[in-house]
Amino acid sequence: MPKDPKTQYYHDTFPKQFQDAPGLQKEMDPKPDCGEESYKGSGKLDGRKALVTGGDSGIGRAAAIAYAREGADVAINYLPEEQPDAEEVKQLIEEAGRKAVLIPGDLKDEDFNYKLVEEAHEQLGGLDILALVAGKQQAVEDIADLPTEQIKETYETNVYPLYWLSKAAIPHMPAGSSIITTTSVEGFNPSPMLLDYAATKSAIIGFTKGLAAQIADKGIRVNSVAPGPIWTPLQISGGQPQENIPEFGGGTPETPIGRAGQPAELSSVYVFLASEDSSYVSAQVYSITGGIPTA
Ligand code: NAD
Ligand code: MG
Repeated sequence: MPKDPKTQYYHDTFPKQFQDAPGLQKEMDPKPDCGEESYKGSGKLDGRKALVTGGDSGIGRAAAIAYAREGADVAINYLPEEQPDAEEVKQLIEEAGRKAVLIPGDLKDEDFNYKLVEEAHEQLGGLDILALVAGKQQAVEDIADLPTEQIKETYETNVYPLYWLSKAAIPHMPAGSSIITTTSVEGFNPSPMLLDYAATKSAIIGFTKGLAAQIADKGIRVNSVAPGPIWTPLQISGGQPQENIPEFGGGTPETPIGRAGQPAELSSVYVFLASEDSSYVSAQVYSITGGIPTA
């Protein structure tokens, strides 16, 4: 019997909970499901070498676990204060029998982006998957209260590193490699309280399509994933006002499927876009939104 998507994953209300950004998944209640117990690989990425930003928690963690279980060695980047979450991911990658490389650092720092790529390439012995998942989201209801510093930091986190990391990685990437960015339903349908964030997510769509056209002749494909409301540290650390947390994904925002998504529900798409299964797919945005239309 197929499972009903409305009840397949957690579908109760969420307890209010706040952490300072970036937050730790370890301390969330309930803990996001990143496929730790459920994701089964089938050799789709045997011998591949992946760098995943934001790989400690949430959607990036789901991608990192899936990549390792599909046979890839995986380097993850995250902020130093997220070390406890990153250690869990390292253990999960190693339990899959793959090499795990932990490279903490702040992507707002241009030079760090170049060092990250060089270190990942060196320690993995190659690089053919670049999954760009890191992001910053802080809800502010009124533009009058939106600090310039936040606008800058949202762009410096969500947009600039895509240029720097791609620039550094492309010369290392053989034909058949894949770059995957992470946009959002916000890139199509902006929430009034996410003016800075939503605009960065639209920028990511433009970047993805343009880079895909630019480097198709190198045999490198570039695609993006557009998640809807997914239960991760991003949301409980200022991504939503606390009053939205109990009904997150069910009522605020409302999804036709009627609940928040879990990171594990994105794993197969990050794998698909990285693997040879998507050999004819480039410049596309793949939406996983609980039924919210994006086109
Ligand atoms: P998350 O908090 O688990 O992941 C975000 C990660 O970004 C953090 O773990 C952190 O390691 C990284 N990060 C933030 N600032 C950084 C910096 N300056 N330097 C280095 N790393 C930094 O939350 P998530 O929801 O899994 O977010 C992953 C991606 O998914 C983000 O790009 C987010 O915009 C996108 N997204 C999330 C949702 C959602 O509902 N959760 C919806 C649409 C898109
Ligand atoms: Mg994190």
